[in-house]
Amino acid sequence: MKVVVVGAGIAGLVAAWELARHGEIDVTVLEAERRPGGVIVTEQVQGFVVEGGPDGFLAGEPELPELATELGIGDHVVSQQARGTAVWTGKALEPIEEGRAAQLLGIEASGAEVKAGFRSFANGMSEPVAALAQRLAGTLHFAQGAAGLVRAGSRWHVAITGGSSHDADGIVLALPAFAAGRLLESVGVTHARVLAEVVYVASITVSLAYRADQIGNRLDGAGFVVDPNLVGAQHAAPLQLRACTYASQKFAGRAPAGHALLRAYLAPGDGDPAKAAHTLLAQILKTRGEPLWSRTFYWNRGLPRYRARHAEHVADVRHRLSRLPPLAIAGAGYDGAGVSACVRSGREAARLIARAMAR
Ligand SMILES: Cc1cc2nc3c(=O)[nH]c(=O)nc-3n(C[C@H](O)[C@H](O)[C@H](O)COP(=O)(O)OP(=O)(O)OC[C@H]3O[C@@H](n4cnc5c(N)ncnc54)[C@H](O)[C@@H]3O)c2cc1C
Repeated sequence: MKVVVVGAGIAGLVAAWELARHGEIDVTVLEAERRPGGVIVTEQVQGFVVEGGPDGFLAGEPELPELATELGIGDHVVSQQARGTAVWTGKALEPIEEGRAAQLLGIEASGAEVKAGFRSFANGMSEPVAALAQRLAGTLHFAQGAAGLVRAGSRWHVAITGGSSHDADGIVLALPAFAAGRLLESVGVTHARVLAEVVYVASITVSLAYRADQIGNRLDGAGFVVDPNLVGAQHAAPLQLRACTYASQKFAGRAPAGHALLRAYLAPGDGDPAKAAHTLLAQILKTRGEPLWSRTFYWNRGLPRYRARHAEHVADVRHRLSRLPPLAIAGAGYDGAGVSACVRSGREAARLIARAMAR
């Protein structure tokens, strides 16, 4: 029995890992890009640990520590060290409740969940991705995007960009909802249009490295958010700063001794994000001189934002999929956008496929 998992973000990798542990299932993972992890990207730059996408997960969420233990890297889970958040009012940084800061950024978590803090991995969020990719070596195929899906009796036929194809008894689509929606519409699940309509918000993250003596203000806590009223007022400005994480304070080991790593979170606009971030941080944190280096990540379709009746639409699509040969959807577009929710979603999709194929 063969299962094709489409997408090697965290949801797809976890689905493949869960399926591969059922000895009798032959798993193939198809990934359009040349690396695994999707939105999860960690780079090691001159002794700094730079996160392009997620930088942690809520401390109360068990999914990543459990996965890490299975992968033999349970002792690599680290807890947030500096705590506390401020709001930039346009004139000063004023301390606020961490739950309130999350709310201002549109993060869906209760105040109590955020109060417990965040956790990450000693070498960054791509540690579990690398461990999964290592365990799945041989089943992972890069630069192989699924271009088409065809139902062939009780099986599936997946066409790959470039002309090759795979036949499978089961499919896990671990893609952004808009990409999964398009493939499902092509196999007659017309209601899947609602998935294609899930909005993914664009954002930019800029990591900037400084010597500690370049930062004029004392860095208190883990970072700050910008008052949303101010973000509105910045409309004339080309790029809008939403928040800044003091990355080298939030988790240990993110910068060499005597250095600071800041991560700015910007809404897209015109201009050079690294320059804009540096200029705004110079004003807010009184940084002096140029950063040692900076690294910008563009997320044209970053975090999904669910609309009204999202859960109902997803349940309806899943109900329609249950009438087809085994096919499951997993990932940030459906049951929660956080990394932990994606791990849970990947596992659930794999279990659903394994059960459907056992029938
Ligand atoms: C800037 C940013 C910061 C974030 N911060 C946090 C955080 O701190 N904590 C947290 O919990 N969450 C955070 N998130 C959310 C979380 O990181 C993501 O929602 C999650 O990692 C998505 O995982 P996924 O597997 O569902 O999708 P993705 O990571 O998007 O993976 C999908 C994969 O499918 C591939 N693909 C697409 N089309 C095809 C195709 N046709 N064929 C084959 N492959 C294809 C893509 O290349 C990609 O690798 C953040 C997200 C962003 C953008």
